[in-house]
Amino acid sequence: MKILVINAGSSSLKYRLFDMDRQTVLCAGIVERIGEAMGQLVHKIRPDQSGEERFRVDETFPTHKEALAEAVNFITDERIGVIRDAGEIAAIGHRVVQGGELFKAPCLVTEQVKEGIHSLIPLAPLHNPGHLIGIETAQSLFPHAPSIAVFDTEFHQTMPPKAFMYGLPHYMYEQLSVRRYGFHGTSHRYVVKRAAGFLQRPLEELNFISCHLGSGSSIAAVRNGKSVDTSMGMTPLAGLLMGTRCGDIDPAIIEYLMANTGMTAKEVDKILNKDSGLKGICGTNDVRDILEMRERHNPMGILAFDMLVYSVKKYIGAYYAILGGVDGLIFTAGIGENCPILRAEVCRGFEHMGILLDFEANERWGEDVRLISREDSPVPVFVVHTNEELEIALATEQVLLAQSGR
Ligand code: ADP
Repeated sequence: MKILVINAGSSSLKYRLFDMDRQTVLCAGIVERIGEAMGQLVHKIRPDQSGEERFRVDETFPTHKEALAEAVNFITDERIGVIRDAGEIAAIGHRVVQGGELFKAPCLVTEQVKEGIHSLIPLAPLHNPGHLIGIETAQSLFPHAPSIAVFDTEFHQTMPPKAFMYGLPHYMYEQLSVRRYGFHGTSHRYVVKRAAGFLQRPLEELNFISCHLGSGSSIAAVRNGKSVDTSMGMTPLAGLLMGTRCGDIDPAIIEYLMANTGMTAKEVDKILNKDSGLKGICGTNDVRDILEMRERHNPMGILAFDMLVYSVKKYIGAYYAILGGVDGLIFTAGIGENCPILRAEVCRGFEHMGILLDFEANERWGEDVRLISREDSPVPVFVVHTNEELEIALATEQVLLAQSGR
């Protein structure tokens, strides 16, 4: 079965075609600057594998429809295509950032589902409109392939009220849907499944702390395979110190900044999202650059790194307390997978909680799921390569199979 995964933004569209029988990626691509004078499509065959082939076109894509149509041309091209006919695509899996309380599982997109995603636009004004365009486009170009929506938030819908409610007047939850939703759900779900597979134990019996540390970062506390708390909030701004997002701050700072600088709420919000975090502290959001700054004894580079480690440690400690015991600590995403020194610094001092890192294993690269703790470590520590698109494809396949009664 072939499944096309789409992640549509307001002016971009990423796609990835999976052969589910072999769980391999046949091709992938990204179209950027849709609706602008000049757009660009980069198409890759066998992406991230040896023998990757890359093609690029610069042309105008007035709407997502032209963008996806051009991607389909590449996918089905006589010479370089990976399938002969678009009809071979059994279903389209769509990434949707915000599913609110409406969506607790991946689902077949119906008119009602589209209305639901639309109704959540106030909670995700930058994302859900683009996703809806992606869905409409796929439905018009692939009238016979069902579209399935997979939400970043749905994995965290199992959080109890004591974890997802804020200490605000209750009507703000009831009337305005203000609560913690959490994000990166497809990544957290994928990596805990992989770690459970490694341990050869049912996920439903296992507790994990999952650290997704990338340009955006979040940590999830997982009890018996289900998310019971996570560091991001109503929006992805809360929690850990991130690349350009501030993470947890005193909410009174916003009013203080507005009163003392004349900035509008929108301007402050932009700074908190785009100019804060690691970048705000030391001028760059790339941890590789920060590691170099640190080696040169640059004080702001050292501070940014220390703050990142500190914020990760605080959440791990908090979630350990909530879970009462863990069967695994997982590091994933760009920083989590590629930065041994950060993993070592985070784990330092957790020995009393049963986290004993194997410093040599921590420095090694390799398998998609690998153990970096000592054999005698009561808590295994994993590095798991996340694959959100594959998780969306797997969820899509499951919905499809459930629909056909298999
Ligand atoms: P996203 O998918 O959210 O854009 P990623 O999960 O790819 O982000 O993470 C991107 C971040 O990973 C980069 O900003 C960089 O800081 C970090 N990163 C990537 N490679 C390395 C590395 N070798 N060492 C340290 N950090 C790295």
